[in-house]
Amino acid sequence: MPFTFANVDDRACLVHGDNFYDVNRISHGSIESDPMAALTDIDALHELGSTLANNEPDGLLADAKLGPPAPRPRNSFGVGLNYKDHAEESKMDLPESPVVFSKFPSCIVGPFDDVDLRATRGDYEAELVVVIGRVTRDVGTQDAWSHVAGVTVGQDISDRKLQLGARPPQFGLGKSRDTYGPTGPLLISPDSFADPDDLHITCAINEDTRQDARTSALIFDVSFLVSYLSEVMTLVPGDLIFTGTPSGVGMPDKRFLVAGDVITTTVEGVGTMVNICR
Ligand code: ZN
Repeated sequence: MPFTFANVDDRACLVHGDNFYDVNRISHGSIESDPMAALTDIDALHELGSTLANNEPDGLLADAKLGPPAPRPRNSFGVGLNYKDHAEESKMDLPESPVVFSKFPSCIVGPFDDVDLRATRGDYEAELVVVIGRVTRDVGTQDAWSHVAGVTVGQDISDRKLQLGARPPQFGLGKSRDTYGPTGPLLISPDSFADPDDLHITCAINEDTRQDARTSALIFDVSFLVSYLSEVMTLVPGDLIFTGTPSGVGMPDKRFLVAGDVITTTVEGVGTMVNICR
């Protein structure tokens, strides 16, 4: 049974229609309220997803203060140059194996939080973000999706000066300033989609749509990335994988972020984040 998961005031909730339901309450205490703890039991979340209509909701999603679905991942990965058109606009060769960097977990914020730029070359990158749902080691590509709790929307905000000012370029610091990792608003289980590998993704700065692509264009798809990473290190529930951004980022035409810019990021069937630059 599919489920839609949200972090409401740092409590794990499931969503049905316009309403949210506190997971700890409707599971009679068997699932912990901390979102990170709740994500360790995705089988229970799948089961609970089918019972929501029998419960009284805790409130309206529209009134809820939403945080990042997985607020404190143990590891958070970014994947560079994972769309052909973005590699081309970056004037880089297509990668033969995934270009993986650490997007340090301290940068993770919620879907409507402000981005504190602190940079003259702040840039946006709309991304599909995978949230791991099981302890995962050496999983094959065929089974990889079953180790995923769900997907959410992410912004891999990047300080191009920090990233490209070093020789050779370094990704970790440049993508990990405080507030540089908005995620949310919802985590959608993979079985909710007809095809979780083919989702429409867009990003607008103010009224200007800058990125418009489908995740089916990923060079290394979700199954490959989960399998590949799990051969290097053990993945645990709540770990995040920012899967890469399509073309249209600000860097090629020097359209860097400035205070007051409104970043609107949408993934089909997942939702929309709105983040204002400060
Ligand atoms: Zn990125």
